[in-house]
Amino acid sequence: MDKVSTPSNFIKNIISRDVSSGQTAQVVTRFPPEPNGYLHIGHAKSLCLNFELAAEFGGRTNLRFDDTNPLKEDEEYVRAIEEDVRWLGFEWASLCFASDYFEEMYERARLLIQKGRAYVCDLSAERIRETRGTLTEAGQESPFRNRSIEENLDLFSRMKKGEYADGAKVLRAKIDMASPNLNMRDPVLYRIAHATHHRTGDTWCVYPMYDYAHPLGDAIEGVTHSLCTIEFEDHRPLYDWVVRECEMSNRPRQYEFAPLNLPNIVTSKRKLKQFVNERVVDGWDDPRLPTLSGLRRRGYTPEAIRNFQRELGVAKSTGMVDERMLEHFVREDLKLKAPRTMAVLRPLRVVITNYPEGQTEWLEAENNAENPELGTRSVLFSRVIYIEQDDFMDNPPPKYFRLYPGSEVRLKHAYFIRCEEVVRDADGQITELLCTYDPETKSGSGFTGRKVKGTIHWVSASDAVAAEFRLYEQLVKDGSDDGAGAMLERINPNSLKIVQGFVESTMKRAEPYDKFQFFRHGYFSVDPRLTSPDRLVFNRVVALKSSFEV
Ligand code: ATP
Ligand code: MG
Repeated sequence: MDKVSTPSNFIKNIISRDVSSGQTAQVVTRFPPEPNGYLHIGHAKSLCLNFELAAEFGGRTNLRFDDTNPLKEDEEYVRAIEEDVRWLGFEWASLCFASDYFEEMYERARLLIQKGRAYVCDLSAERIRETRGTLTEAGQESPFRNRSIEENLDLFSRMKKGEYADGAKVLRAKIDMASPNLNMRDPVLYRIAHATHHRTGDTWCVYPMYDYAHPLGDAIEGVTHSLCTIEFEDHRPLYDWVVRECEMSNRPRQYEFAPLNLPNIVTSKRKLKQFVNERVVDGWDDPRLPTLSGLRRRGYTPEAIRNFQRELGVAKSTGMVDERMLEHFVREDLKLKAPRTMAVLRPLRVVITNYPEGQTEWLEAENNAENPELGTRSVLFSRVIYIEQDDFMDNPPPKYFRLYPGSEVRLKHAYFIRCEEVVRDADGQITELLCTYDPETKSGSGFTGRKVKGTIHWVSASDAVAAEFRLYEQLVKDGSDDGAGAMLERINPNSLKIVQGFVESTMKRAEPYDKFQFFRHGYFSVDPRLTSPDRLVFNRVVALKSSFEV
């Protein structure tokens, strides 16, 4: 695996210190998604951080599903997450599920009760919230706080047996209702949920809360550095309390980093789920979504995503990141990898009147001018070709170097053509152009007789392959705002544009995920879901140019 060389990575410094002081023998990290949705570009930051840091120090990383909320979780998400992690190029040391530790977590909770550190509380969720106090006011102690150890043990085991309804009782840590840290005011450790869990079925009806389950999962797996996003900073004292009071032999440490924030891109799973459920998009892998499956389908490469994350580095403070930076990295990655071919997205028919009818010829074309290793291909030339509608103007402005009546341009890889006549239908719409070509000007022939300023792309009508092109814009205008309802009203009506055109015949056999740079249009990738033996669909990954510089 590549070395991590982030511009700034304070977590790396911490790990480095722990390794050199001997406090950490082997670095163990984990990536802990909840299987309640698909992974997105924000998760990629956590993935890269956990996997790359451990690898750099010769350690290992577990993939741990934090599956403690049966109501929201599903096997579909487990499979999708595994696929995405592998696709990014990471291999986990162990595949773990928090639900595998339910028995041990339950026993540790009994230990807390025996130590007088936890109690069963009958207050409703609402009452618990109301009595929690505020930042300036202490909370109130629960009337159930001083139940005896025997009673607590009995009630907790009856909670587990299913004797109580959801919400009737919870298990709470007994810490300090006056703590300045609200998370330490007798937090709930277990709740009752009569729900079928995607892995443990109906075995359990009490489920551990995140703040209890997470540190225990880390400790059980021997995680040394537990990395999470900054909003958990105030939970760290509770994390340490759980590890200590549950008498775990391993002592993982939690470190927080700033989440990835892209101002115009919605990454909250809850909102993404809403887009999927309300069919604003065509599934979790819609190429407009910043999910890893959406980015993959759009044509992003794992390398581009990882290089992007590496460039960002890891800081403690939340910084907005320009999404054009992600685009920059995919362009950089595809620049030398993708063959440069020709596609006409909005075709205009051109007849080359002095090219003999029935004649065709194969022209040699290099696949990537910057990377000779990609070799060459043959492109068919014939009397009738398609060019881009945009490459012709009836009344061009000054400095328009493409086709207009009387102008001459170079056809990429072929000849100079001159526009002689514009053919229109009864409504005055242009139906085709009549042009002439100059056989002396063949590309590669060394012709120097005269120069033309414009080069345009084209495909031969005789063997062009029909293709669909999907062009994307941002899904939501200003995706940063809260309020899901308002978000749905801000969906960009132009987020998906579909046009029908042609590609060169060499692309007839393009496979899902094959990537090309189409002359002047940008990078495209074959859609894996819509493409079939008789339909070829390309997603535009990204246009060619951006004003963004890293
Ligand atoms: P969301 O906020 O989108 O619902 P989540 O945090 O609930 O995501 P989890 O499945 O709990 O999703 O996340 C798994 C890991 O990914 C956690 O360690 C979490 O901190 C991290 N993570 C989630 N979002 C981001 C982000 N935007 N940047 C960096 N790390 C993130
Ligand atoms: Mg979460």
